[in-house]
This record gives sequence, C-alpha cells and structure tokens, in this order.
Amino acid sequence: MANRNRNFIITIDGPSGAGKSTISKKIASRLNISYIDTGAMYRSVAWATLKQGIDLSATAELEQLLKNIKIRFQAAGEKNLVFCNEHEVTDAIRTPQMDQLASAVSGIPLVRDALLPLQRDAAKDCSAIIDGRDAGTVIFPEAGLKIYLDADISARARRRLKDQADTASINLQSVTKALAERDAADSSRAQAPLRMADDAILIDSTKLNIDEVCEKILALFFEHFQDISHEQTTTDKNC
Ligand code: C5P
Repeated sequence: MANRNRNFIITIDGPSGAGKSTISKKIASRLNISYIDTGAMYRSVAWATLKQGIDLSATAELEQLLKNIKIRFQAAGEKNLVFCNEHEVTDAIRTPQMDQLASAVSGIPLVRDALLPLQRDAAKDCSAIIDGRDAGTVIFPEAGLKIYLDADISARARRRLKDQADTASINLQSVTKALAERDAADSSRAQAPLRMADDAILIDSTKLNIDEVCEKILALFFEHFQDISHEQTTTDKNC
C-alpha cells in the first residue's frame, strides 16, 4: 500500500549554468514540495558581507555575521523569493559581482560550516528538492534520489548569456571564462568540492531542453519512490 506521508529528498548537483535552479523550481512545483537553493544561501552571505562592509578575511566579523544571518525562501508563482535578514534579495544576488563574491565566500570553511545546519534545517520535516554543488555528497548523503546535472561549457555559457538582463558589458567569451573559473574553484576547493556522488545519476542537458530534463527526473522520481503515490505529490506540502 502506498505510504502517503513519507518525506523524500531529491538532490541536484552540477556545475554553474547547467540549469539546476530552473529545473528544481519546476520539479518542486510539479511535486508540490519545497525548493532549497543552496547557491542562493552562499549568494545571500556574499550580499550581507557587501552590505555590512565586511572584508572576507575579517574572521571575527564574518563569524558574527554568520551567527545572526537569517535566510529564507518563499515560493511565489514561478519565482523562488529569497530573503536575507528580512530584505528581499532575489534579484540583488544574481549580478555578475555576486557570482564572483559568492564563489569566493563558498570557499571559506567558516561559511560552509555555518550554512550546513541551515541547509539541513530547511528540509527538516518536509519533502524537498535541493540544488547545489555538495547537496548529494555532503548536505544530504542519504537522499533517495541524487541527480548530477551537467552540460558542455559552451551550452552553459550560451544559456547564461541569454538569461542576463544587461548584455552590454558581457559577451559569450567573458561568460565562458567566468563559468570556467567558477567550475575550477568549485571542483578544487578543499571542503565539499563539486563532485558527482557515487550513487548519483548523471543527466547531460547539453542537447535537452528544460521540459525534457524535467521529464527524465520525474520518471526517475516515480521509479525511486514507488511507495509514494501520484496523489501525495499533488496534495502534500508540509514545510
Ligand atoms: O548555484 P549558484 O551559482 O547560485 O551558487 C553560487 C555559488 O555558491 C557558486 O559559485 C558555488 O561556488 C557556491 N555553492 C557552493 N555549494 C553549494 C551551492 C553553491 O559552493 N551547495
């Protein structure tokens, strides 16, 4: 008999620009579960350091900031609103400056140690899809379904460029370079580097559109969580 009240976790890791957040939002909406964007959490820390004028090497100030930081998400139609210390930062954390600062912030062990319990807490007592770089390896190693979403760097760069509102100051070459730098930083850091979990399923989205990737993940979901009925995924959202 179907277990109607079992919570489940899906993780999606992969390099920048592979489509993780767009796809996670769609899956969350389709399955009526929470979406936890761990990249937005690093971006929020980056935003807060800039707002408070904190140098990333100022350990005591950074510790204080992390002790008090409040990050929350709120689904609003197609959007996943992000609040940092009650400021709505959804768009403010998506600038090229924040791309760079978030990448730098994410390499600081103090920051990773502080965000890990917040990331786990965000999915406590609920079903959720979590996207990031270490969601399946570190945050939720016990997740029931782990996806590693990859794509050629040229495809990722083209998508990124299309998403940018201000294309006057950037071009395909600069976007490709920035992505390659972030990939290298994510894959080579000592703590929680980007890597595919041993039990993750690889999806290469280079030649797939968003709906095709979502279909693949939903098929895997219903295969992996056979005891969860279609009915549960259209009625439950307890977090
Ligand atoms: O996914 P997104 O590009 O929004 O992530 C922002 C930055 O946060 C990335 O450059 C990556 O370095 C970092 N990150 C991380 N671990 C995660 C999620 C994001 O290091 N789980």
